[in-house]
Amino acid sequence: MDKKLIAECEAYSKEYMDYLSVAKTERRAYSQAVKLLEKAGFKDISKFKTLKLGDKVYRGYHGKTVMAAIIGKKPMVEGIRVVGGHTDAPRLDFKPKPLYEKDGVVYFDTHIYGGIKKFQWLVLPLAIYGTIVKKNGVKVDVAIGDKPGDPVFMISDLLPHLAHDLEQKKLKEFFPAEDLDVIASVGKKEELLKIIKKEFGVDEADFLSAELEVVPAGMPREVGLDRSLIAAYGHDDRVCAYAGLSALLKLKGTPDVTASIVMCDKEEIGSMGATGMQSSFFENTVAELLVRQGSTMDIDVRRCLEKSTMLSADVTAAADPHFKDVDSTGNEAKLKGGPALSKYTGGTSKGGASDARAEFVAVVRKFLDDDKVTWQMAELGKMEKGGGGTISQYMARFGMDVIDFGTPLLNMHAPWELATKEDCYWTFRAYKAYFEA
Ligand SMILES: [Zn+2]
Repeated sequence: MDKKLIAECEAYSKEYMDYLSVAKTERRAYSQAVKLLEKAGFKDISKFKTLKLGDKVYRGYHGKTVMAAIIGKKPMVEGIRVVGGHTDAPRLDFKPKPLYEKDGVVYFDTHIYGGIKKFQWLVLPLAIYGTIVKKNGVKVDVAIGDKPGDPVFMISDLLPHLAHDLEQKKLKEFFPAEDLDVIASVGKKEELLKIIKKEFGVDEADFLSAELEVVPAGMPREVGLDRSLIAAYGHDDRVCAYAGLSALLKLKGTPDVTASIVMCDKEEIGSMGATGMQSSFFENTVAELLVRQGSTMDIDVRRCLEKSTMLSADVTAAADPHFKDVDSTGNEAKLKGGPALSKYTGGTSKGGASDARAEFVAVVRKFLDDDKVTWQMAELGKMEKGGGGTISQYMARFGMDVIDFGTPLLNMHAPWELATKEDCYWTFRAYKAYFEA
């Protein structure tokens, strides 16, 4: 990279790290995105009776999922461009009845959300974020563990001196998910409830209607003497979701084709639920955009969806020199190789994959190369070693061309994931090139 690009890359990385520092849950990723959208002149869809060329609009859903768009020159029935990423990340959720006391220690009982390696969550400073909704509808926001002076939380592990039996176990059996519970206090549950009442004004029963998430405590950090990497919780998939947002925010002028982003929830548990991509949110939002441009026929929505294209903005595995036996040799994503275009994901025999057609891959190659973006073509890993999926299959359902395209990560789904600044920056540039092509 030349001097100018290095400066741009550093500036972008700083912006992204600032976003991540706030966006530690999907709710916070959402509210921070809306804040940035509004600052850039985007308005809630309810403020528009009609939409015209160049209008900047967003539609949020349940405070977790958002779609934003800049209306382009071509009629929307001829298709739109979408960059879609997710903002939920693997974590530990509070159970509905989280509090229990065992031999003088009080715990928060948790339920795993998303694919984690359980042992990575032991002996780690943890923070708690979320919302408690009281019966009268009043919401109490919780954010504890990241402000200076805050306490953190921890899941304890066994000392090596007494771990002889434990070490004989297989990794999967080594720590039952049911034991992945967070130390809340030492003493009686009643004493803890008094502290909770004083700090948050809630009773034990209020936990029944709460969404509290246990996530790693701490802010994103630069890694390495060359500072080329960023360690952070939740790169997957805020690194791509933010790159899409940033590309839309920085788009100059009016695009030819309506440019849009989706930042969605629930990808890590199969895109289920009202805020996941299997819901009708996306279709409904497209219909809301069309009706404000004079379209009242359902067929217009179908036509728009079918003729649209999408970059499914999700991370992929970067080849780790220490784990070469899982690489799809020659087809693995390299660090600093730029975002990785994955024609397909899925399992061994492309099971569950949305295999992009060659014609669309060619279109993507062209606009990336024309804009001198650093990018690479890759598979997630060796066949028969595992696999994974993204939201692409749920968008492909509409008949549109979709391809997976995102930042390569080391230790994906770990409490702290690693991405190079260059790959973060090129991901942003790639999405911007798509909007501008
Ligand atoms: Zn993931």
